[in-house]
Order: sequence, then C-alpha cells, then structure tokens
Amino acid sequence: MKPQADLSPEAPVIQALARGVCPICTLMRVFQNTVIEAPHRFPATSVCNFHAWALAGSSPAVEAVPIFRSMLGDSAVKSATSPVELHPCDWCVALREHEDEKLSEFAREMKRENFRSWIAQYGTVCLFHGRKLIKILPEAEAEVVRRILANNQEELEKQLSEFDVRVRKGEKGGGGVLGHIAEFLVSQRGITR
Ligand SMILES: [Zn+2]
Ligand SMILES: [Zn+2]
Repeated sequence: MKPQADLSPEAPVIQALARGVCPICTLMRVFQNTVIEAPHRFPATSVCNFHAWALAGSSPAVEAVPIFRSMLGDSAVKSATSPVELHPCDWCVALREHEDEKLSEFAREMKRENFRSWIAQYGTVCLFHGRKLIKILPEAEAEVVRRILANNQEELEKQLSEFDVRVRKGEKGGGGVLGHIAEFLVSQRGITR
C-alpha cells in the first residue's frame, strides 16, 4: 500500500497507509498544506510563529494580504501598553481537531481485521501519535501499537549505528536515517504541537 499522491484533507486513514510513514502525520500534513494553500477557507485572527511564516512565504499573496491586514489592525500598537496576551493559533487549533478526528478514525479501523493485520505487519506510527493511540485503544490493540513503536525504534537504532560507522569513515550521504529518526521522535516536519 502506498499513500495516494493526491490525498484530500478529508481522505480516510486507510488511504494514507504506507510502509515507513505515520498515516496520522501524513493526513495532518495534507490538511496543513490545504490551509496554507487556501487560507481563506480557514479563518484565522491569530497565528503562531510557524504558521505566520507559512502564510508569509507559501500562501497565495492575494489571500495572505487581507489576513495580515486584519491581524495587524487587531494587534494594534494601541494595545502595546496592555499586558501581552497569548491567543492560541487558530490554525494550530484546527490542526489539533483534525488530528483528533483522524486518531479516532484510526482507533475505529483497528476493529477491522484487515486493517489491524496490515498495521501490525507493515505499519509505522510516530512516537507522538503512537502514544496518543495507546491511550485511546483497548489493551489488545494498544499492544499492537506498542509493538510497532518498539520495532520501529529498534530498526532506527540499527540504521543509526550503521550510519555512524559510515560517517566516521568520512562517507557522505545516507543521512536519510536522521530524517526518519526526527519523524519518529517529533512527527513529520512542520507538524506543530
Ligand atoms: Zn505521526
Ligand atoms: Zn500555528
């Protein structure tokens, strides 16, 4: 199974299954890309550092302008003397909601024998989503996820040792393993917490 290249943000978990990739991360990334590509669909009055820079650098300027204009107006120098208030980032909140939906869907799918056996054999989840799944799954199914995490960790440790030997010999390249470890530890790139 490979994830479909043209996943929609509402794609079911089953379409995001792929060897070596956390399906929850994949779906969050697709959702986040949609937000950045079409920000008018996800109204925001407050954004975090990561999403402000994504809006500045990657969104269509014609959509970014009105959002920045309204946020500039809101943030107003006039309130510069009032205490700093921290508003949650609207897009992080939307991303969290999407994540929760996909985690629940994953948990429902685990009741299906086909899904569960594919996941047990070939599946990958990142540490962050693995822990979240373990919390919401019944014990037998949580155990499947624990085993996936343990196998994944073991495999990455092995690859890292091999990489270490090559690096010490001065070999270049093969650094993909570092990216895989980062993904395992903190989810795919750009998935904010
Ligand atoms: Zn993940
Ligand atoms: Zn954010």
